Amino acid sequence: MRIDRGLHLVMSGGGGFDLTDAFDCNVFLVGSGEEWLMFDAGAGRDPAGAAAVLAEDGIDPMSIRHLFLTHGHADHSGGAAHWRDLAGLTVHAGQQTAAMVASGDENGISLGRARAAGVYPMDYVYSPCPVDHVVVPGESIRIGDVSVQPIATPGHSHDHISYVVTTPTRRLLLGGDALFHGGKVAIQDIEDCDVSAYCRTIRTLATIEFDALLPGHLTFSLKDGHRHAKAALTYVEALHIPPSII
Ligand SMILES: [Zn+2]
Repeated sequence: MRIDRGLHLVMSGGGGFDLTDAFDCNVFLVGSGEEWLMFDAGAGRDPAGAAAVLAEDGIDPMSIRHLFLTHGHADHSGGAAHWRDLAGLTVHAGQQTAAMVASGDENGISLGRARAAGVYPMDYVYSPCPVDHVVVPGESIRIGDVSVQPIATPGHSHDHISYVVTTPTRRLLLGGDALFHGGKVAIQDIEDCDVSAYCRTIRTLATIEFDALLPGHLTFSLKDGHRHAKAALTYVEALHIPPSII
């Protein structure tokens, strides 16, 4: 689904736009000139659905050369192995995510707990995926005419990384499950969720300038996306927890 020039939504499930499999997070493609960068990979249950969206959008899957993961939860990383196998793309992730995704650490990514709670079907199979590049918060990765800056944004999960992507025309926050439209967050009773860390992350995001907020679920915002960080900050500054989408 083309959002704008150089920006497509190619997967999105029941917590978003019902574009592909119900368990998929929002998966965005950002153009870097000749190539595409993918942010998160969906749950991996319905590669044909994503392939159909790409075909509709006129995008060759082989032109997707990089995949950036925000965290290890299965709705974000479960599809990584498929895309790496298919397109031979470079998978980037933070250090903890890289270790858990590569080894298929289902407890580390809270999949065992989520499956038992009925969040995922009992027959859901997670495919581990090698990670080619461990991102370091603070580095800047130049790909074509865009730059990608990883930012440590723990809280929703202890391994969570967000990405600020600067294109010739915009500054995007690929926020995964760190920040949602309306200043909301995603808090669950799982071991890798840490409310205090989450509040510190909101303070961090409120200091970062970006135009578009492209989150892992629900809707996105193309202009003045930073207002959603400011909305979350008003709760945190009052020692409250922002409302959760879950
Ligand atoms: Zn998550």
